[in-house]
Amino acid sequence: MFEAIRSWRRKRILATAAIPEPLWREALEALPFLAIYTEAELVRLRQHVVLFLSAKNIVAARDFEVTPLMRTMIAIQACVLTLNLGSHYYDGWENVVVYPDEFVTGLEYEDEAGVVHRRDEPLAGEAVPGGPVILSWPDVEASADWSSAGMNLVIHEFAHKVDMRSGEANGCPPLHPDMPRRTWQNAMAAAYAHFRRRVESGEVTEIDPYAAESPAEFFAVLSEVFFAEPTLLQTEYPSVYRLFAQFYRQDPGSRTELLLEQ
Ligand SMILES: [Zn+2]
Repeated sequence: MFEAIRSWRRKRILATAAIPEPLWREALEALPFLAIYTEAELVRLRQHVVLFLSAKNIVAARDFEVTPLMRTMIAIQACVLTLNLGSHYYDGWENVVVYPDEFVTGLEYEDEAGVVHRRDEPLAGEAVPGGPVILSWPDVEASADWSSAGMNLVIHEFAHKVDMRSGEANGCPPLHPDMPRRTWQNAMAAAYAHFRRRVESGEVTEIDPYAAESPAEFFAVLSEVFFAEPTLLQTEYPSVYRLFAQFYRQDPGSRTELLLEQ
């Protein structure tokens, strides 16, 4: 019964809340890494985006104004991660807050020793456990084109949200039944330790060295690479690439010739 209601609501939203074609095209053009997707996949992505926008509020902080293009660009990138996972990966929270610049959350957190700290350094993005995703618009805009930025803020923060689906962000999202947790943990731990050694030895890595910060950041940064420059992940950490392909149920590395045709 519940499934029937859910599917009826889904159909009603898709029928009434369409995204105008010019807006959709403009948003796709601003995100060149999406060139690997087929037309059929983009049709599905668009449905995910419509449902995402009906389920989440994308709101402005301070006196900023969030335009339809900003909303669509943020939603598209969020939905790239869950295209083959399902939107329930983003259940349990409601808001995306967009700031006109870097922001200070002032959120308090407790470290392993039980000491409470306040986060008062300026941030470009933050995924709050059980709460909103917070984004600085200039950083979203600057990282929309991977080829010039080498990072993607929206994918990063929403990868944390996917990770948090199984509790605290720890680099291990809720895996599918055919994916042994131990296999994931061993491969991720080995790759993380290897990457940390490279960063600590002073090597200039093509993958953002911020990935060496913690297993959660390693998962979020490597998710950015997986979607936006998959061949880099295939080359540097093939075992992680294979696990991500199994988890996200996508194989972007097999499509990169489509990026070159642009
Ligand atoms: Zn992060």
